[in-house]
Amino acid sequence: MEKVEMAKRFQGKVAVVTASTQGIGLGVAERLGLEGASVVISSRKQKNVDEAVEKLKALGIDVIGIICHVSNEQHRKNLIDKTVEKYGRIDVFVLNAAVNPSATDLLKTKESVLDKLWEINVKSSILLMQDAAPHMQKGSSVVFISSIAGYQPPSAMAMYGVTKTALLGLTKALAAEMAPDTRVNCVAPGFVPTHFAQAFLGNDTVRKALEGKTLLNRLGTTGNMAAAIAFLASDDASYITGETLVVAGGMASRL
Ligand code: NAP
Repeated sequence: MEKVEMAKRFQGKVAVVTASTQGIGLGVAERLGLEGASVVISSRKQKNVDEAVEKLKALGIDVIGIICHVSNEQHRKNLIDKTVEKYGRIDVFVLNAAVNPSATDLLKTKESVLDKLWEINVKSSILLMQDAAPHMQKGSSVVFISSIAGYQPPSAMAMYGVTKTALLGLTKALAAEMAPDTRVNCVAPGFVPTHFAQAFLGNDTVRKALEGKTLLNRLGTTGNMAAAIAFLASDDASYITGETLVVAGGMASRL
């Protein structure tokens, strides 16, 4: 196969990606790193962080890994402090962490579950940006990871969907607040076979039904998501801010 040279849109830049030791987050870290970024990856478990750092280093990527459970204040502060200590600034921040702890109807969802969904999927991203913003300068960029479920929250994951809807509004609000120096955008993935999605995609019937809801007759890949996130984070998107890009193979979202 012909070797395709990757663009180097992030040469000399520093990218922080949360929840990035597997799945979409790791895919983004890899893409940004292969395009020249120094990458800071993170997640809750040291073993996962160490393994992901090794994988990225094996690809020749300049990477450090830091434990960061996004709802832990000390972890968030440490993620930013260590990044600035090592690299001096942040050019790209991808906020990718989310949970979906329960599949109950909204009217039956416990308050503790509502709190957890809000805390991890929305609030922690705002708090992380409060810590990171002072280190982001002209030309920097933020990307939130929402979901196709944010447009039409499915009954099986309604509150998760609602938190992802909130990220669409957060993107608009933060884009206004951080303009003109920092652009803030969002990617809404369709369904991608990852550990997170295993709960529903592990069921063959559900998986086929979801494939059938795309126009391209397939689920997404982490590489598909990474490509879209890298585009929005790059100078190729220098006149785009406050937008959400749906990357879902043509699944119904909005006009
Ligand atoms: P994944 O493959 O299961 O990876 C999740 C990553 O998050 C792991 O690295 C995990 O590592 C880390 N993590 C989990 N909880 C965390 C926390 N509280 N703080 C920090 N890190 C945490 O998941 P994914 O499918 O790539 O999902 C990534 C994002 O895409 C999420 O925002 C999800 O909502 C969104 N999304 C996914 C799909 C899909 O179909 N996969 C569709 C739409 C949107 P540790 O266990 O070490 O913490």
